[in-house]
Amino acid sequence: MSDTVQELSERFRELTGRNPDGVWSAPGRVNLIGEHTDYNEGFVLPFAIDRRTRAAVGLRTDGVIRVTSTFDDTPVEFHLSALDGARSEGQIAGWSAYPLGVAWALGQHGADLSAVAGVDIIIDSTVPVGAGLSSSAAIESSVALALNDLWSLGFSREKLAKVGQLAENEVVGAPTGIMDQSASLLGATDSAVFLDCRSLDATVVPLGLAQAELSILVMDTRVSHSHATGGYAERRAACEAGAAAMGTSSLRDVSVSDLDRAQTLLDDVTFRRVRHVITENQRVLDTVRTLNEEGPLAIGALLDASHVSMRDDFEISIPELDLAVETARANGAIGARMTGGGFGGAAIALIAHDQVSRVEVAVKQAFAARGFTEPVTFTVTPSQGAERNSAQ
Ligand code: ADP
Ligand code: MG
Repeated sequence: MSDTVQELSERFRELTGRNPDGVWSAPGRVNLIGEHTDYNEGFVLPFAIDRRTRAAVGLRTDGVIRVTSTFDDTPVEFHLSALDGARSEGQIAGWSAYPLGVAWALGQHGADLSAVAGVDIIIDSTVPVGAGLSSSAAIESSVALALNDLWSLGFSREKLAKVGQLAENEVVGAPTGIMDQSASLLGATDSAVFLDCRSLDATVVPLGLAQAELSILVMDTRVSHSHATGGYAERRAACEAGAAAMGTSSLRDVSVSDLDRAQTLLDDVTFRRVRHVITENQRVLDTVRTLNEEGPLAIGALLDASHVSMRDDFEISIPELDLAVETARANGAIGARMTGGGFGGAAIALIAHDQVSRVEVAVKQAFAARGFTEPVTFTVTPSQGAERNSAQ
């Protein structure tokens, strides 16, 4: 990464005429298991990946925040004390809503935006956008960590995750949970982040992929999904209705031992939606326990069962995702599942290092045979979370 850090610093010098005060970076993420459990106050197990967003940041003396990205050379700037008003009036839009939203959200969490120094921020990234790897959390987390350091705020990483989520919810306008920011800020090398979405307690869980010589292959179907579609809202509504019918505010309070009761109380579709969430929560707990006790070679069946549950009970898979998962398994993957919200996006497979290219070839052939768009496949390595990469 040092070359890129130097290149970004050089770019900062070209644009501002001075050195940045530092370069910070934060990763995208993949969710290993625990899908549609976050908004049910359940469990998720994402990990930070080796694709990162970098932010070169330098202090200014005039209280202005000025952001530029390799997306768009045109700088966007506001006086920090004017951010709140600009947000209320809907003047913060497009990609700059992520970094500006983070500055605003730091203010909401107690930073005094009228007292801190202004900043120049230049952003670059190797996290593909819209591939389900959370380029949005990567940009939020890199900027949040940078401003936390430069403004000497002393906020914890857990608090910075909430800052990123608040920016995304209230400035970008996306109703997302806290999983992505938690993975990006709390991730560690060869580890996943076990997150309880009710208490927000996060624990780093070693994956042991390196020692077991395992890779995680992402198979991006290139079928685009949008959380704005009715499917996502319908699933959320079914979960709420199921919880209400079972006399609770959240499916977190319902466990596998309540499934018989759920079946008598709920219509077939709602029951299957509820069964997915209940069993998926249990699978996350089982995955964490299995990783700790037996290691990653033993989690394949849990990944497979998660996919079946999303395909048959939650009904959020598509033929391309099913084909990717089935082909990976038929060609030696230890386990495979779709990951992310569904209706498109990517699947992941856990594969021995030396079987990866065989699976990639087989999946591409299978897609061609069915007349599907060629998928994009690449491995991801569980990596360290957000960090400061250079002092200058
Ligand atoms: P993802 O699944 O990748 O998180 P989102 O739609 O949540 O997809 O976030 C993608 C958005 O984040 C982009 O449309 C852009 O506004 C912003 N973004 C991501 N990476 C960058 C970048 N390098 N520079 C500027 N904006 C970025
Ligand atoms: Mg996102």
